[in-house]
Amino acid sequence: MGRRYYCDYCEKSFIDDLEARKKHLQSSNHIKLRNMHYESCRDPETALKEELLKIPCRRFFQGGCPFEGICRYTHYSPEELCELRQQVEHIQEMRRKQKEEQHQVPSSDSWIDQYREKHMKEDSDAIHIFWKYPENFENRIDLPPSLIKFKTEHFYDDNFEEWGN
Ligand SMILES: [Zn+2]
Ligand SMILES: [Zn+2]
Repeated sequence: MGRRYYCDYCEKSFIDDLEARKKHLQSSNHIKLRNMHYESCRDPETALKEELLKIPCRRFFQGGCPFEGICRYTHYSPEELCELRQQVEHIQEMRRKQKEEQHQVPSSDSWIDQYREKHMKEDSDAIHIFWKYPENFENRIDLPPSLIKFKTEHFYDDNFEEWGN
């Protein structure tokens, strides 16, 4: 007969029987501490939403409210609420940016990088030349026209035949 119940909110332990536990969980001190813990762990968005629903606590701002944690009025000053709102806006902005980045198409540079990564990895130094003009052909004059090396000076010859003639 020595099992004890430890309450994390109140940092207090007591003999664990149904009656005692029930009594503790309904005690105003426990509720107060539990609420204060909840309030301190709320994310800013929840806190703002909840605090904006309450009207300011006159007692609290006039020197002290005995209902800290269980007060139905807000203990946030207008300045604190404003700060909270800025925090929320910041969080929402970050979230929006994150979403945008996820939907962004990769830039052309990264496409090129990806292509390179995929296709040039195995032998990045090797340049494949499929066919090279045989050097010993260059000075020969007995070649058929299709095997004569094409030279830039051929472009200056404007004596083109017309199709169909
Ligand atoms: Zn407790
Ligand atoms: Zn209050």
